Amino acid sequence: MKCIYIDKDEVLAYLNSKDRHIEGRSYEWEGEDVVHIHTAAQPHAFGCVAPAHWHKSSLPTKISTPGQYHIIITSDTEVKAYYVKDDLRLEECDVNFIPSREEMYSRSKGILEVDILSNKRVMIIGLGSFGSQIAIELAKAGVGEFALFDFDRVELHNLARHTCTIKDLGRLKTNAIKDAVIGKNKIAKVDLFPINITIHEDLMDEQVEKADLIICATDNNASRFYLTQCLLKHNKVALFGRAVTRAEGGDVFRYRPGGPCYNCLVGSRAHAMATEEITNRSQLPAYVSEEDAHAMIQVGLSSDIEPVCNLMVKLALVELSRGKKSGIESLETELDYDYYIWANRRERRHAVWAPFNNAKNQPTILKWYGARISKDENCPSCSAHAILDLGEELNTSPLENNYEGIVLDTEY
Ligand SMILES: [Zn+2]
Repeated sequence: MKCIYIDKDEVLAYLNSKDRHIEGRSYEWEGEDVVHIHTAAQPHAFGCVAPAHWHKSSLPTKISTPGQYHIIITSDTEVKAYYVKDDLRLEECDVNFIPSREEMYSRSKGILEVDILSNKRVMIIGLGSFGSQIAIELAKAGVGEFALFDFDRVELHNLARHTCTIKDLGRLKTNAIKDAVIGKNKIAKVDLFPINITIHEDLMDEQVEKADLIICATDNNASRFYLTQCLLKHNKVALFGRAVTRAEGGDVFRYRPGGPCYNCLVGSRAHAMATEEITNRSQLPAYVSEEDAHAMIQVGLSSDIEPVCNLMVKLALVELSRGKKSGIESLETELDYDYYIWANRRERRHAVWAPFNNAKNQPTILKWYGARISKDENCPSCSAHAILDLGEELNTSPLENNYEGIVLDTEY
C-alpha cells in the first residue's frame, strides 16, 4: 500500500476555494511507495512527478490514465487517496498529514518551541559553512523569521563543509538554505538578500534595525566594521564567528549594546584590514576568503568548524530567549563573556599552548575559553569621540600573537 503525505494547510485552502477539481503534483521516491502530494508544483522537490487530481466529494466516473493519483476531500479530516494501477484499477492509499500552521503553533503538539522564538527575527550575513548551519539549527529551535544575506552560489568546493548537497550545486545559497529552513519549519518567514553587502550597505542598515539578533558569518573586516556602526546606531545584539586559517581554531565575539564593540576587540580598523588573510577578493563575496574558496579538502576541516557553529547557536538561543523561561536559561549567567576562543590544533597562534594531555592550568586545544574585552576609550567606532574614518590608526590588534593582552578566563 502506498503511503501518502498531504499538507493540511493545502487541504484547508482547497476546501475553502471555489474550485471543484484541481490538478496538483505527486512526488514519489521510486521503489519506496512513499508519495508527497501537493496542490501545486514544488519548485525544488525531487522524486518522480505525476499529476495528482484533487476532487471534492467523489471520484470522476472515468479514470483512464495509469500512474496518477486521485485525492477525494470531503472535510479536513475526510481525505482519501487512490493510485491508478496499470490495469486502471484503483488502489486505496494510506493518508498522512503534514501538520497545519495552526498545529505547528499549538503548544500541546510540541513541534516547535513557539512561545519564545516564533516571533524572533534573525539576520544572517554569509551562508557559508557557518551561516548555513546556524540558520538550520535556529529553524529547528523554532525561530520564526530570517533575513539571509549571501550572493554566492553552491559550488563543488563548498560541499565538504556546507549543509548544502550535490543536488544544490549551482543554486544561490540563499534559495538552497531557505529550502532547508522551510524543510525544518514550514511556517518560517524567510527573506532573501542575494546581494553584495559591501555595495548595499543601506540595506544592511535597514535590516539590522528590523532584526532581533544579527549573526555575522563573514570574515571580511570591512563588512564587520560597517555592521558595527549599524549595531551601535540601532542598539542591536550581534554574534561574530569565524574559523582562523585552515580552521586551526576559531573565535566568537558577542556585541551587546553598551559593551565593547568589534572595533574595541580588534584595535585599529586600518591595521585589521591591512592584515586580513585575504589577498584578492575581487571575485568573491565578502564572507568567503580566497583561501577558503581555494582550500584543498582537509581531513577534519568540517568537524573543526562544528564547535564554533555550535557555540554560536547556543549564544544565539541565549540572546533570543534572554529573560524568558526556557530550557537554557541557566546559560545566561554562564555564557556572559564578550569573546570566546577555541583551538583545534596546536598550530600557528596556538603553537605555544600546552599539550592536551598535559595542560594543567594552561590553555590547550579542544576547550572553550571565555574572555572579557575592555571597552576602548579611544575606540574609533564606539567611544564618545568615535571617528568614522577607517584610516585612523590607533593601536595594534590584541588578536595577533597568541591573543596577547586577552585574559583567557574560563575553560568550558
Ligand atoms: Zn568599540
